[in-house]
Amino acid sequence: MTGNTIEIAKETIPPGGSKRIDIPVSRLPTQTLLSLPVKVVNGVEPGAKLWLSAAIHGDELNGVEIIRQVLEKIQPEKLRGTLITVPIVNVFGFIEQSRYLPDRRDLNRSFPGSETGSLASRLADLFIREIVSNSTHGIDLHTAAIHRTNLPQIRANLEDEETYRCAKAFNAPVMLHSNTRDGSLRQAATKKGIPVLLYESGEALRFDSTAIDLGVRGILKVMECLDMYEFPQQRSEVKSVELQKSKWIRASCGGILHLAISLGQKIPKKQELGFITDAFGENKVLIRSHVNGIAIGYSLNPLVNQGDAIVHLGIID
Ligand SMILES: [Zn+2]
Repeated sequence: MTGNTIEIAKETIPPGGSKRIDIPVSRLPTQTLLSLPVKVVNGVEPGAKLWLSAAIHGDELNGVEIIRQVLEKIQPEKLRGTLITVPIVNVFGFIEQSRYLPDRRDLNRSFPGSETGSLASRLADLFIREIVSNSTHGIDLHTAAIHRTNLPQIRANLEDEETYRCAKAFNAPVMLHSNTRDGSLRQAATKKGIPVLLYESGEALRFDSTAIDLGVRGILKVMECLDMYEFPQQRSEVKSVELQKSKWIRASCGGILHLAISLGQKIPKKQELGFITDAFGENKVLIRSHVNGIAIGYSLNPLVNQGDAIVHLGIID
């Protein structure tokens, strides 16, 4: 191969070229072939190879739109290195508007996967072989799970120098140090020595314009930091808060939840977050924070059982 040529799924993308590739995954029971849609933009000069992925959880849509908007801004002739975009990783969950694969497996607990395992495991294996193995850096885009919402935030191994540099460049309102989770894409790529940022923002099955804007801007900033592209100067009002730990506040009883907080709000220890009551407004139980924190996510479903996770706080020392 010459220059900055790249090969993915036996397709060759020449320097300065851009190509849409559909990598066959499997047939549905109807025999309809499902494939993994990939768009590669290849710069003339070599440089970092950045993958962008979204909808590993099939109902998490903000990242799909983030990737569409990023692609609109990239011209191959001005790019150094390679941008590999996979806006719908869990193609099965996406058409069912579901987080999971048809057998209820979670793709982001199925990495690195295997060629002979479950459908999730095979899809994970395909993603590692064709996308991760051709990349030097990665950004994986998520939202909160269904019935929850998240403040725009980067989760990454902030103890790794290159990952930290990219996380700082992304400049989300919060960056949270997080160890990788078993079976996640981030863990599998980290094991291959690839720095990965996970961007969490907004809700499942919804577009959130703030979440999308901050995601697009963050990716462009990371591309600049990796010397892949120069974008017109953009001023940012966001000052990223760096957090080492987070904690879920759980419901102390079952009932109907009334939260009185907003995302990004600083919450001192012992502050009231809301209350749980019955349908008549009796048996009211106050919810208080037992740490100094910042609200990075919460439940949108008013119906709670004892022990349900209701507010996610980033801990401020
Ligand atoms: Zn997710």
